[in-house]
Order: sequence, then C-alpha cells, then structure tokens
Amino acid sequence: MTEFPLEPDAEAIREMGMRAIDFVAEQVEKWPRTPVWRPGATNPLLAPPPELPGELDKLLSMVGDAADRGLNTASAGYLAYFPAGGLISAAIGEMVAMSLNRFTGFAALAPELVAIEHSVIAWLCRLFGLPEGAGGLITTGGSLATLAAVVAARERGGGPDSVLYVGEYAHHCIAKAARLCGLPDDRIRIVPSTAELRMDAGRAAEMIAADRARGLRPFLLAAAAGSTSTGLIDPLDELGELAEREGLWFHVDGAYGAPFQLTERGRALLTGIERADSIVLDPHKSLFLPYGTGVVLVRSESALRAAHSGDGSYLHDIERCAGLPDYADIGPELSREWRGLRLWLPLHLHGIGAFRRALTEKLELAEFAHRELMRIPRLEVPWAPDLTVVGFRHRDGTAASRQLLERINGAGRYFLSSTEVAGAYTVRMCPLSVRTHAEQMEEVIRAIAAAV
Ligand SMILES: *Cc1c(COP(=O)(O)O)cnc(C)c1O
Repeated sequence: MTEFPLEPDAEAIREMGMRAIDFVAEQVEKWPRTPVWRPGATNPLLAPPPELPGELDKLLSMVGDAADRGLNTASAGYLAYFPAGGLISAAIGEMVAMSLNRFTGFAALAPELVAIEHSVIAWLCRLFGLPEGAGGLITTGGSLATLAAVVAARERGGGPDSVLYVGEYAHHCIAKAARLCGLPDDRIRIVPSTAELRMDAGRAAEMIAADRARGLRPFLLAAAAGSTSTGLIDPLDELGELAEREGLWFHVDGAYGAPFQLTERGRALLTGIERADSIVLDPHKSLFLPYGTGVVLVRSESALRAAHSGDGSYLHDIERCAGLPDYADIGPELSREWRGLRLWLPLHLHGIGAFRRALTEKLELAEFAHRELMRIPRLEVPWAPDLTVVGFRHRDGTAASRQLLERINGAGRYFLSSTEVAGAYTVRMCPLSVRTHAEQMEEVIRAIAAAV
C-alpha cells in the first residue's frame, strides 16, 4: 500500500481509468441484449464503508448488478418520458472536468475554462435569436433553470399581487418555482387549451384583463415549446406578442422542444421563441446528454444578476473578469464544478451536424410511428406529433389502454409511459434516445399491433 492512497500516481490513475472505461464499454455493449425494465433489488451495496481498502473491479461489478435492476433509461428500448440515452463523450468530458476540478463560480479563477463554458451559452443565445446582452447559465436540469428564470422575472416585476399564467399542459416545475419564490398557489392561472391542445392565446388575454380589473398584477406568461404530455408547441409568436403588449415576462419552457431549433422542421415550429425573456432547455433530453444538464437563457443577463448576486467579506479577494460572467452572481450556486465541458466537448467533437441529423432522425421516427399507429383500427391517435411525442388510446377505453401499456412493457423490450390528455388516459411514446433507430421503432410498432 502506498503512503498516500488518496493520491494515486500517473500509473495508478491510468490503471484505474482503464478499468472504469472497460466497465462502461461492457455495460453499453450488453444493453441491446438486456431488458429495459427489471424489477426487484438484490444488491448488497447497502453495507457501510469498510475501514480497509476494497477492490475496484469488485465494487464496479456490484454497481453493474445494481444498474441491472429498475429501468434502463440509457437503452434503445426506453421510449417513456423524455429519453436521451446519454452521450458517452459527455461522460468522458465530465470525468476530465472533475479531474481538473476547477472552481467556476467566479470567472477570474478559471478564465479560459469559463470562456469555454460561456461559448456554449453564447452559441445558444444566437441559435434562438436573442439580442446582444443576452446570457445564461448551465444548471443541473430544467427545474432549476426554471427556478432561476422565475426568480429573475419576479425580481423585475413581481410583488404580492403578482399573477403568473401557464398552459393546461405546462410542466409542474413552473408552478413549483413560483411556490419556491413565495407566490401563493392562487396566483397561478391555468390557461385552457384550444381543441388542438395548445395554449389558447385569446383566453390568456381575457384572463390577464380580468386579473387587472381585479387590481392584480399579471407578471409572467409561460408558454410550452414542446409540452411534456403531448410534445406540442404553444403558439409562441402570438403569446410572445401578447406578453409584450401586456408588459409580461415571456418565459418559454423548451426543456424538451427547444433543441429542435437545430432542425429545419423545429425552427419553423419554434417561430416566436426569439421573443422570449427566458428560455429553458434540457440538454439531458434533446441534446442526448446524461442527466444533470439544464440551461436557462435570458434576454438580458442583468435580470439574472439582479435576482442572484450576493456578497461576502470572505470573497473580496476575488477579482472580476471583464467580458465573462461570474456564475455565482447569476445563479443560485456559489461553488460549482466546470459544468461546461460536458456540453462543449460533445458539440465540438461530433459537430453540430451530427446533432442535427440525430434530431431529424427522431422526428422521422415519430412520424413513422404516428403513421403506423393510425393504421391500427382499434387505436385512437389523438394528435399528429409536432416533434417526437406520439400518443394513442385503445378505442375500448381506459382499462383497455392500461392493459395495452402493461402488455407492451411486460415483454421487457420496450418501455412506454402514460399521461392524461383532454381528460383521457393516453399511452405515450417518445423516440428520442440517441440509441433508438428505425429497427427499434419497427419492432415496437409490431409489438403494439400484436398486443392491441
Ligand atoms: C423535463 C421537463 C422539465 C423539467 O426538467 P428537469 O430537467 O426534469 O428538472 C420542465 N419542462 C418540461 C417541458 C419538461 O419536459
């Protein structure tokens, strides 16, 4: 045993890294042959840590056994919620970033590394047509990105009389963020949808007027750019114009849908997103990254700063770096890892074209699934997908739809989920994993046709 076992030398680092990479490669390689879902828990990982050293291979093998239980959200057959698969190149980037272990709360401490992270934010701001002065932050997910946006909106125009408007199919994280901000539940208005399942802009305008007449202060309108239940996009241009006319902060929840801006179809559907005061997107959904990666973009970085900046006498030694954001001042965290590399590395390594093609492929898979499901007489298919969320119901009703979902998932090859749309139980399928291709879609459609 070496004198300082917590400080491996170069050779020990190589050996540990090679074993870990071997483990990862074996895992990824076996996924096509293992079930997407396996219930139960049999692993003895719960023992307390020992006093003396363990063996890496043995410990990794225990992790492998534990990972075999539950839902394999990284497998090609995972079609529930919002799959991404998780790019291995991002995981490698993460390992590199963690090993360098630099502090990125203040740009001056790692200026070149923060510049790398910021280049991704600047690229995203341009991609969505945000003006000079826009900025943003990489967070651990969409919910925290939404919290930062809602806090910024409240700082600019919120108060005890403030009212916030979300759509019927909005993600609950917006209401949750409002609650965390101290906004009472009765200040959250749910705007109904049109028959096409999108936020009804006319109703939103009426509700805003009614609240003003009551002496309340409308301050934020949140639109979905790809709703979680349906994947459908609210009329962003119309809602953005309404928000502007009424002086409301316009938030676009593109946690799932916004990255489709990289595709031709997505760009057309997302028209109006450039009006946003804030945009949330989840690279751990539609940019195929591993979990723990969200982004908030704001039209004006100063709005995030006004809401988040803080000070402490123990921080006065730290200088400010012109032209680079201090993430500690524009988000809720102080200490933070170098979160940018997990995005920057895959984007530069694979090139944007690879992402564009993969997203276009997923759009085509959803279109294929929709077309094929429409041909199954016992199924009702309530909407044509904007992006990659496909819904269907058994014509015999909820119980039959539930049984259908159980039969599909029961085989262990595919995993779908359900939701409620227009008051009706709906099976929901979303081909979005980087590992899901035509072969899997053809197979799952055959499985659905056989199970219906
Ligand atoms: C997933 C999702 C969120 C929440 O993001 P997390 O990363 O899960 O916190 C918010 N909005 C929409 C539309 C989503 O799909």
